[in-house]
Amino acid sequence: MDFISRRRFLYDLAEKGASLALFAQLPKAGFLGRSKGSKDLVDGKHIFVAREAMYYKDLGYGMAECQLCPKRCTVADQQRGFCRVRKNLHGKYYTLVHSNPCAAHIDPIEKKPFFHFLPTTLAFSIATAGCNFVCKFCQNWEIAQSPPERTNNVYLPPEKLAQYAKKAGCTSVAYTYSEPVIFYEYMLDASIAAKEAGLKNVMITNGFISPEPMEELCRHLDAVKIDLKAFTEEYYKEICAGQLQPVLDILKLLKKIGIWYEIVYLVVPTLNDTDREFEDVCTWIAGTLGKDVPVHFSRFYPNYMLRNLPMTPVRTLERARAIATKAGLKYVYIGNVPGHEGESTFCPNCKKVLIRRAGYNVTEYNLNKGKCKFCGEIIPGVWS
Ligand code: SF4
Repeated sequence: MDFISRRRFLYDLAEKGASLALFAQLPKAGFLGRSKGSKDLVDGKHIFVAREAMYYKDLGYGMAECQLCPKRCTVADQQRGFCRVRKNLHGKYYTLVHSNPCAAHIDPIEKKPFFHFLPTTLAFSIATAGCNFVCKFCQNWEIAQSPPERTNNVYLPPEKLAQYAKKAGCTSVAYTYSEPVIFYEYMLDASIAAKEAGLKNVMITNGFISPEPMEELCRHLDAVKIDLKAFTEEYYKEICAGQLQPVLDILKLLKKIGIWYEIVYLVVPTLNDTDREFEDVCTWIAGTLGKDVPVHFSRFYPNYMLRNLPMTPVRTLERARAIATKAGLKYVYIGNVPGHEGESTFCPNCKKVLIRRAGYNVTEYNLNKGKCKFCGEIIPGVWS
């Protein structure tokens, strides 16, 4: 239990404001320090440390097409893309958020949530402003739905980030909170620096990214958590301003690459909570991705534009879990209901508890080198 106590100690420190103190001591973005290859870009009253974007096409006549995500924004000179953090300057396209996070915290990996990836470890978690979706239930809308000039940013270049993460006792760097796709170049450079420092990299994403940049990124990532928001194009269009099919394609790509990934399905009352939808999504996952993929049915709390809806009843989450189990999925979890037995991992063979969780804490651990301690069943995941 030594490592659990150590994690608890570090997490307590983070809870007591260590991560806030860390954030406060970092230099404010735009005024101190410049990362290699960056340039000052003045936009109104703001100075950005801008860097040329990786995936775009100069269309001529000062126009640019961003090819990073399936939105494929066509952007006129001096304008920004849908996600608000990428700007066209005379046909050259720039990211405005490289090395400029607006959030840096130390979180338990269970908070992401990853349940089959290095349990009990800490993740140095960062985000910048911006998102390529507009989810009406967004839990981080203050940063995700803001341009970078409206967030409180710091200057944290990749090498420094890796140093801070090591110093804080973290095992991984997590790209999270808003949507890391839109700070792609920063995430890629940070992943390389983190790997060199002996850290792992995990991405928490809506999966709305073009296949080529995702493949490139996966060379440096160790795990991906995909928010599968629903299983209909209509929901993606109406509730998220996105599309479902490209996300399904990315899930298939992750399977092909062989990287570890887990899926979260946020259950929103009246919008994506019918038996039919649960059956459809679970049948697709089991049939296309396999029965070993962990699926988390997560509880919705009223927020942002959906404050009129109630929080998800626990019995709805239990219904989803029962349908998923019937579809053959072996590792189905209930999220955001601390103390529920659906937070724990059970052996699909002998049915005993393998990892008992209470909120973000692991209280019992019965795995031995990735196998069930009781019956020897191999449990998929990254355990050491
Ligand atoms: S990353 Fe941003 S600018 Fe690029 S296509 Fe997506 S939404 Fe548009």
